[in-house]
Amino acid sequence: MTEAVPSIKPTRRELLVAGATLAAAAPLAAPAIVSAQTPAVEWPKLPYADDALSPVISSVTISFHYAKHHRFYYDNMIRLVADTDLKSQPLLDIIKVSMVNPARIGIYNNAAQFWNHSFYWNSLSPKGGGAPTGAMKDAIEKSFKDYDTFKKDFAAAANGQFASGWAWLVADKDKKLSIQRSGNADTPVVRGFTPLLTIDVWEHAYYLDYQNRRADYTAAVIDKLLNWEFAAENLSKA
Ligand code: MN
Repeated sequence: MTEAVPSIKPTRRELLVAGATLAAAAPLAAPAIVSAQTPAVEWPKLPYADDALSPVISSVTISFHYAKHHRFYYDNMIRLVADTDLKSQPLLDIIKVSMVNPARIGIYNNAAQFWNHSFYWNSLSPKGGGAPTGAMKDAIEKSFKDYDTFKKDFAAAANGQFASGWAWLVADKDKKLSIQRSGNADTPVVRGFTPLLTIDVWEHAYYLDYQNRRADYTAAVIDKLLNWEFAAENLSKA
């Protein structure tokens, strides 16, 4: 399959923000007009009000992060798949097909970032945080000894991710839990793991509220926002 002939070149900044290298992204320059057909992938609603996570994450951060950053990845993805064979594909198929094709790195970066952010919003809850109960408590204790060990390891992964990326709690096919981190747009969902929870550690996720203090942001998210009900739902499908 060939990509649509580009009629407008994205700016250098668009390419950098999209996480693509200039050389790799050049062949994927965006067509000027988005296909009139309804995209298969819909723009998700935020699962709570934009001030619901305050004071851990302010409404200002949420509104920029959701309406600007997340939306930017979505719009880029829709534009880049328009008039290609991926146009009507489910999101995970768009991600999996584009990840193995270096010519489609721009699609991969934007589609994976779009998926990661949708997952991140659901990983947080105004009623979240603290130690899990029920099936998640059992799973955490089986895989990490205890909640405090999990907490320490998860924070270390989030704080130790060099530059932009994500920290993940995932389950393998035997429902064994582990912690992973990924750089930029990369996502464990394409590597055979079932993500249970994630923390976005790109600076845009915390800089307005915490400036450079990433560790304060991750500690507060773990203590007050992690959505264990969402994790349990995901684990039940692993
Ligand atoms: Mn983000």
